Amino acid sequence: MRSKIKRCRTCDLYTLKDNCPICGAPAVQTKPPRFSPEDRYGRFRRALRQEAP
Ligand SMILES: [Zn+2]
Repeated sequence: MRSKIKRCRTCDLYTLKDNCPICGAPAVQTKPPRFSPEDRYGRFRRALRQEAP
């Protein structure tokens, strides 16, 4: 079951509602960081891969 968590891009705030509770802007569904330009886990993934048999 997937979480329905959403995020306000303006406030950088996570919410479960359709709109940001702070600014009222529509909150957008969060996406997996797989294709994010900020791939913080890339290095970690590569390290794991090197340790794999
Ligand atoms: Zn907001």
